[in-house]
Amino acid sequence: MSETEKKNHVYSHTDSSKVVMSEEEWQKILPKDVYHIARQKGTERPWSSSFEKSNEVGTYYCAVCGNPLFKSDTKFESGCGWPSFYEPISKSSIIYTPDNMHGMKRTEVTCGRCRSHLGHVFDDGPPPTGLRYCINGVVLDFEKAKEAEENWKNNEQGTGKND
Ligand SMILES: [Zn+2]
Repeated sequence: MSETEKKNHVYSHTDSSKVVMSEEEWQKILPKDVYHIARQKGTERPWSSSFEKSNEVGTYYCAVCGNPLFKSDTKFESGCGWPSFYEPISKSSIIYTPDNMHGMKRTEVTCGRCRSHLGHVFDDGPPPTGLRYCINGVVLDFEKAKEAEENWKNNEQGTGKND
């Protein structure tokens, strides 16, 4: 269990109910770097995330609330310096907001559950979507396929045992 999970009572991979919390509360429970990017729309340094080069099979979650965001099979090498995906897990995973800051026309992507800032989406991605979700690694949690599968099974059947 990560530091975030210990203090963060809303963190869940299966609870999809919307999270509403004051910025003050977020500041108390989130690690500094996560708070800066997720709640203050910060951007991590390019090439700083270990997820950028990772090819591991599994699921990426919102590091703030645990909402499932991306599957590793939609991840691709974009060369932009941040973990990049071409499709979110579901339509409700992500909220899209026009962002015209810094004189650029961009679309900001935030978590569909807790509205934390994740990154931006661009239309220069690969098929089938043509989209490039450029996401800060700091606000992602990764779980390898086997663990994720077990958790889903536990949640759906109330038991993790295979006979
Ligand atoms: Zn979230």
